[in-house]
Amino acid sequence: MTTPSNPQADALTSAQNAYKALREKKLHLNMQRGQPSDQDFGLSNRLIGALNENDFQMDGTDLRNYPGGIRGLPSARALAADYLDLKDENVIVWNNSSLELQGLVLMFALLHGLPGGRPWGSDRNKMIVTVPGYDRHFSLLEHLSFELVTVPMQQDGPDIDAVERLAQDPSVRGIVFVPTYSNPTGDSISPEKAARLAGVQAAAADFTIFADDAYRAHHLYAEDRDQPVNLVALCRDAGYPNRAFVYASTSKITFAGAGLGFVGSSEDNIAWLERHLNAQSIGPNKFEQARHVRFLGDYPGGLEGLMAEHARLIAPKFTAVNDILTRELGTTGEYATWTTPRGGYFISLDTAEPVAARVIELAQEAGISLTPAGSTFPKGQDNGRNIRLAPTRPPLDEVLEAMQGVAVCIRLATEEYRRK
Ligand code: PMP
Repeated sequence: MTTPSNPQADALTSAQNAYKALREKKLHLNMQRGQPSDQDFGLSNRLIGALNENDFQMDGTDLRNYPGGIRGLPSARALAADYLDLKDENVIVWNNSSLELQGLVLMFALLHGLPGGRPWGSDRNKMIVTVPGYDRHFSLLEHLSFELVTVPMQQDGPDIDAVERLAQDPSVRGIVFVPTYSNPTGDSISPEKAARLAGVQAAAADFTIFADDAYRAHHLYAEDRDQPVNLVALCRDAGYPNRAFVYASTSKITFAGAGLGFVGSSEDNIAWLERHLNAQSIGPNKFEQARHVRFLGDYPGGLEGLMAEHARLIAPKFTAVNDILTRELGTTGEYATWTTPRGGYFISLDTAEPVAARVIELAQEAGISLTPAGSTFPKGQDNGRNIRLAPTRPPLDEVLEAMQGVAVCIRLATEEYRRK
């Protein structure tokens, strides 16, 4: 007599067996870091030698000496303005980190107030953030004592009805989010939503949009791109000329450890920021700016040409993640759903059951390191389902291997949960 089959037990046993086989592979893979690959960096190695020992002048400035100003070298500002779709007078090019600039602007707002506004002070400030979102935004804001209030990140940008409701609270100072190919969902704000956000009726007169446009140029497919919005112009058109600060850097364009960070805003805001930066610095690193101007100016096709090369390296990794997840987990959502971005650095996956932490633990034990559970929500308070996948850094064959392993872990964690 044959024993009647039990499909649930079969699914669990098969997942356990697959996991056992996975562990036996003794992998050592990392899908956690949102960093460029060595091949991506290699595209910019000429940056290192872009200046020689006689190259210490640019825009009539001696790069070795102090004078040059706070706003950055004119040629570097032209580059940044072009990137952000703004005029040169609307940008400051600072040092390598755009996150540092975000922190500085927030600190000056807390201490001194934005142009025409009162200092925010160090307590009882709230900031809207999108979830899932970028953990470093959360930690920066929490470090500066902001209470974070969350709105869902949707396929066409932040849940704007929720933003409008929250903005009725005068202690809500603004919103921090990633407008293009967001971290981690890869979604971009639509022009309609951006216009609505620019015109939000807020209780705080200086309600501010802090847009971290880190992935503005990071399309994966030449023919299928999201159109980045111009929040500075939209806010001006909506009657709030000083409402938006937009940040970006070359961290994912040239070198993550030695690039240029910059900010775009209204002329009043730029003058305000210049005044505050001037109190603490004589100016940014001019050699790095000059190196970038020279390197990107000489690159075939300029910045657009370089981004096309990055896309050629990165797009197959995104395709691999989607193909493997589809093959291993199907498209019904039985185990998980995930985003299929047209750009950026991340894929956001939601497990069908609240098993994200268990998946990450199983993966870790099998030698695959994933972004820690809960990191896409403030204070780690997620719904137990979200996992950020970062396929850019490992070589393609490692992405393939890691994702096969992740799929095994998702199946096992789900079957375990359903048997409880
Ligand atoms: N913003 C976002 C949305 C990011 O994903 C990252 C890097 N992971 C950064 C900023 C870091 O930028 P920077 O190196 O210019 O400080």
